[in-house]
Amino acid sequence: MDKQTIAVHLPDGAVREVPSGTTPLEIANSISPRLAAASVVARLIPLTGAVKENHAAGEEPAEAAMYAAEDASAPRLVDLTTPLTADTRLELVTEKDPEALTVVRHSAAHVLATAVLELFPETKLGHGPATDSGFFYDFYRETPFTPEDLAAIEAKMAEVVARDEKFVREYEPREQALAEFDRDGDFMKTHFVTKFTVPGDEVSFYRNGKFIDFCRGPHVPSTGRVKAVKVTKVAGAYWLGDEKNPQLQRVYGTAFFSKKDMDAHFARLEEAAKRDHRLLGKQLDLFSIQELAGAGLIFWHPKGAMIRKIMEDWMREECLRRGYQLVYTPHVARVNLWQTSGHEGFYAQNMFTPMELDDANYRLKPMNCPFHILIYKNSPKSYRDLPARYAELGNVYRYERSGTMHGLLRVRGFTQDDAHIFCTPGQIEDEVVACIDFAEAVLHTFGFKEFKVELSTWDPNDRAHYAGSDENWNLAVGSLQRALDRKGIAYKTISGEAAFYGPKIDVKLVDVLGRLWQLSTVQFDFNLPARFELEYVGEDGERHQPVMVHRALFGSVERFFGVLIEHYAGAFPLWLAPVQVGLVPISERHKDYAQKVEAELKAAGIRVEVDDRNEKMNAKIRDLANQKTPYILVFGDKEEAAGTVSVRTRGKGDQGSMPLADFIAKCKALVEGKSMEL
Ligand SMILES: [Zn+2]
Ligand SMILES: [Zn+2]
Repeated sequence: MDKQTIAVHLPDGAVREVPSGTTPLEIANSISPRLAAASVVARLIPLTGAVKENHAAGEEPAEAAMYAAEDASAPRLVDLTTPLTADTRLELVTEKDPEALTVVRHSAAHVLATAVLELFPETKLGHGPATDSGFFYDFYRETPFTPEDLAAIEAKMAEVVARDEKFVREYEPREQALAEFDRDGDFMKTHFVTKFTVPGDEVSFYRNGKFIDFCRGPHVPSTGRVKAVKVTKVAGAYWLGDEKNPQLQRVYGTAFFSKKDMDAHFARLEEAAKRDHRLLGKQLDLFSIQELAGAGLIFWHPKGAMIRKIMEDWMREECLRRGYQLVYTPHVARVNLWQTSGHEGFYAQNMFTPMELDDANYRLKPMNCPFHILIYKNSPKSYRDLPARYAELGNVYRYERSGTMHGLLRVRGFTQDDAHIFCTPGQIEDEVVACIDFAEAVLHTFGFKEFKVELSTWDPNDRAHYAGSDENWNLAVGSLQRALDRKGIAYKTISGEAAFYGPKIDVKLVDVLGRLWQLSTVQFDFNLPARFELEYVGEDGERHQPVMVHRALFGSVERFFGVLIEHYAGAFPLWLAPVQVGLVPISERHKDYAQKVEAELKAAGIRVEVDDRNEKMNAKIRDLANQKTPYILVFGDKEEAAGTVSVRTRGKGDQGSMPLADFIAKCKALVEGKSMEL
């Protein structure tokens, strides 16, 4: 029996006693009509029991999340018109709440389906979840949608929005719903109802105008609240991902709270497309992937290789400065090694298949760790040798399915700036602090201002999935936490996300477009020191097992390069630019002066390219500018007589002339300071 009065707890601590059946909208209105108008949905949070994390935002659209029965013990979103029948905590979700956009986008998917059925009534409906960047809806129809169809659908959606139809939740007995779907040949709806409800259930539907869809909700109050929506593309998708099934038309779109937000989104996409490292890689002749050699294998052209050399030189020098020792190890090893390390078991599907040689089978290395371990193990170690920090820019090979490779970001062969630190348990914390310092230095040096840090820990309730003792885990997690706290770095702890062999810290950089890139990792390992029976003799004269930390800061040199290209849109700062200065002699007779300028720049260590083609001056300037050359020096009779050069600065244009010696001094200062100014 329902109580006649329920207690609704509001975020400010106030408790409203209201009649059972009161809706969040009524409560919002009683607070302020403006709040009611701004609310999208309501969040109900149970008053009792542990509050679980709600992962609804930002995750892959799970079918279960759309249809399955709600978990009454977790916070959940409901329609503003849902009658409240029990005591609860209530939050009114406005556009400021990240989850609100998901609700708008899913509601936009209903608007899309409404439009499609009005234009193409024979279409059968699949499902239409919100995604990270918008929404999609799966449709079945004999004839694929054409671009004209999509335009008509978008126009019809605008009508549906203008009609401002209320989203109304209705219920039907499950068996009746199934019978109706079956009768109408709605095979996808039949599937979803069968899969996500049980006999005897009432299933919920959402109606707007004449359109009705099996759905758990929640939705915005009416179609008019879908204020900015766009259909973006259509793609084929097999029903249930099986190519024996009918092919569906998956129509994608996106929706925002306002036209302004949507315009900003598409401007960002356009900007990202212009920065695509695969395009710029070609345009600036930085790297290639060769069909003849195979997918996912990178060819570094001279200009890309120059940037790589600068990155690697910097990294090696920093390693030495920070107490690492450099090592080099082979690209292949006997399968026996991979058996000892365990890769042959849990990692085999990511490795290239073995090569049979006369003495044994060999495999390309997917990781450098076992090699560094063999170096450690090659001589007895005492506590005085620790920490031992071995660093290598090691080439590794990992099997990726064909068709999954993506430029420099997803490859089959790459270079890790890998290091392994072997230390005593007491040294862990300082080592981790030093790793984080180093990671920060990488990001700042290469021009990234912002980063996000995640700490992945184990789930102590799930011991079976983790190697290492409680003591080890507590020590490791504790030292990672203390290291981050000492650095004053804000971080997110993700419980249950650690690898089975130890907790880790991930550093994600934020690029100029606000995109997150996972690069640096500091990873603990209890497993390999045990598998390889690593030891050191402690101060007590006894043998102990060292702790091992894997860490990579660029992560992959290839991937980091890809991120750099996109971050700078190919306009690298002077210290990284493969060609720093382009020389443009105005005519044939200035060739000698060009040689003199070139020689002086080179003597100062500046990377220079002379354009002495028989082309017009402006064409040469344009070509060098298209290559995003930081400085272009132009000279003719006047400059030659005065010993000057006329300077054009990237992004700033003609800066007038200056004595060559002054220009060189300026250049050197910018390079030495690794300036981001140019
Ligand atoms: Zn829905
Ligand atoms: Zn490793």
